[in-house]
Amino acid sequence: ATPVGLLTGTGRGAQLGILIKGPQVLEDTRTVDTILLDKTGTVTSGKLAVAATQAFTTLDGIGESEVLRLAGAVEAASEHPIAHAIAAAALAEQAERPAHSVPSAQSVPSHSGHKDDGRRLPAVEHFRSAPGGGVAGTVEGREVVAGRTGWLEENGVPISAGQHRALAAAEATGATAIWVALDGTAAGIISLRDTVKEGSAAAISRLKALGLKPILLTGDNAAVAAQVASAVGISPDDVYAGVLPAGKVEAVRKLQAAGATVAMAGDGVNDAAALAQSDLGIAMGSGTDVAIEAADLTVMGNDLGQVAEAIELSRRTLATIK
Ligand code: ADP
Ligand code: MG
Repeated sequence: ATPVGLLTGTGRGAQLGILIKGPQVLEDTRTVDTILLDKTGTVTSGKLAVAATQAFTTLDGIGESEVLRLAGAVEAASEHPIAHAIAAAALAEQAERPAHSVPSAQSVPSHSGHKDDGRRLPAVEHFRSAPGGGVAGTVEGREVVAGRTGWLEENGVPISAGQHRALAAAEATGATAIWVALDGTAAGIISLRDTVKEGSAAAISRLKALGLKPILLTGDNAAVAAQVASAVGISPDDVYAGVLPAGKVEAVRKLQAAGATVAMAGDGVNDAAALAQSDLGIAMGSGTDVAIEAADLTVMGNDLGQVAEAIELSRRTLATIK
């Protein structure tokens, strides 16, 4: 086998589920000194679950379950982990209620993990989404917008001081909280929880032992980011929260400009540009196709331990060749 073959094809790398794009990648693993880690789906499982739904009293007759049902209908068209969680929760709640049939209905796609057992969410029209922002669409004649504050602002939805306080309170509990708006009015908040992957803390200490400085990079809020960082041994000073997709590329560039050689590990559409900009882009195998395409190296097992493994293995391989 060629040296690259050691990491591809029938080699040890392939056995370990580590795929690399070319020989240069080996060299890059030797020089990286900083690793940016996307939070959702990379350090955490990305399998979020809805913890609570809150309905504001702004809209008559719109309660929690209606907020969840309408948001779920729009999120069913998105691939984001937040979207899967909201669509699944909305669908589960539909099942608990007496069946009220909706004329033009859609089932949640099978990749959400739910079988099509006849339960339905209403159809969405004019679906739009902004990576790292949120989703919007028309459901049963209502304009539904769900996502972060900036996305609601972009869609012309005003948010009161009291509503901002409600979101901050939800986030302070360590939840990822998103807004839901109906016909231009903020209608409620959905709070979600994620879990840190079992191997993440151990993997991060291995990365540190390899001389890499880990930095947590996320579009999520600062409270969640701080909790995850502390659970996996990342310094609170090395947490970049509330970062939009364009900001992720900018973070890579800034570190490079300051002299760092930067690896970036991620899984989302929102990570693709940063993966391409980094000196060593690493995608989670369960990630989106765009992330995998933009990356130099993919770990099929979706495990941060494999990222440390890949760097160790290719450094050893390189030492053997030289
Ligand atoms: P991360 O960097 O942790 O992977 P993203 O950049 O994908 O997170 O998302 C950042 C934020 O944008 C989320 O915390 C959420 O507030 C909002 N967001 C992204 N996608 C969606 C969606 N499909 N529905 C609602 N909110 C979303
Ligand atoms: Mg992610």
